[in-house]
Amino acid sequence: MLIRMRASATMGQTNAVLSCIEKSGCTARTVDLPYGRYIAGPGVGREAVAGLDGAAGVEWVRDGAGPALAALETNPDGTVVPLGDSLVGGETIAVMAGPCSVESGDQVLTCARFVAAYGATVLRGGAFKPRTSPYSFQGLGTEALKWLREAGRAVRLPVVSEILDPGDVEMSAGYVDCLQVGARSMQNFPLLRAAGRSGRPVLLKRGNSASIEELLLAAEYILLEGNPNVILCERGIRTFETATRNTLDLNAVPVLKGRTHLPVIVDPSHGTGRREAVAAMAKAAVAAGADGLMVEVHPDPQRALSDGDQSLTPAGFRQLMEAVRKIARAVGRKAPGEDASPFEKARRNSAARRGVGWGAAG
Ligand code: PEP
Ligand code: MN
Repeated sequence: MLIRMRASATMGQTNAVLSCIEKSGCTARTVDLPYGRYIAGPGVGREAVAGLDGAAGVEWVRDGAGPALAALETNPDGTVVPLGDSLVGGETIAVMAGPCSVESGDQVLTCARFVAAYGATVLRGGAFKPRTSPYSFQGLGTEALKWLREAGRAVRLPVVSEILDPGDVEMSAGYVDCLQVGARSMQNFPLLRAAGRSGRPVLLKRGNSASIEELLLAAEYILLEGNPNVILCERGIRTFETATRNTLDLNAVPVLKGRTHLPVIVDPSHGTGRREAVAAMAKAAVAAGADGLMVEVHPDPQRALSDGDQSLTPAGFRQLMEAVRKIARAVGRKAPGEDASPFEKARRNSAARRGVGWGAAG
């Protein structure tokens, strides 16, 4: 059950609604979001709130189970998520780029330098890796988060990294600007709640067998913690096709855009699993109306400890960014980084170019 309070509702009216629900033996809590005050009561039935429709301060009462806070009608202007000096959502295309896994301080700094120089707006890097096989590289944990943060600071980019365990959320939030909930964790509800409470923006990836409705309901868990900063990510779904790692469901972009106010980005790296397909699907995603991209890169993909086959080389990433800029403008969007002030752009550029090595790799 979800109740929306009127903008003019007083604290007294809100408390009256809460105590009316509690009297019927149910629990409910207040959720404050930029677009309004809500009272959420999981499992509270219509009978428990009979009479609250039309009560003082109450705008509406709803007992459906579908997405409500994430619904487009809730915030028709659209949510724009601030990540450091960058924005995700709104006019400008965001590009999150970096290695699948942070492998060393040098590796992530090298990646940071070239992705920043070529126009990425966010640096990504995995520290806690959700690997299909327990024998595969599992990520370097907290040490990797420290290197990621340092690399992000060196090139003045915000950083995003995946969390797997609710117990790591608070610690990770101390290092990153955005917490990523990966495809495999999309319905890990304690993790969604913990990420929601972290105070950090959350990048929520679609599970590889999850419907769009399920993705929106997973986002609803985060929003219900009073965290408005949720970014959705289409990253490919499992189909009968084996020629690619996943099938990138670009249908999801216009469908989500028609259903939610949350920014939608696309990950063509996991969506295809093949380096040679990444640029084409990245361009298609921007043309389809995505608000941004997440792309894996590596200075030497053949030596990558994870996802080398889908990682772009520095030269490949530079080409992709040139193409994305053109497509963004062609569809009436601003190219990545175009919203930054000239001063900020110059600082990023010189920070990215400081140090040697990034430009040489091909
Ligand atoms: C990742 O971004 O590194 C990742 C593991 O992605 P996904 O959760 O989409 O598989
Ligand atoms: Mn990966």
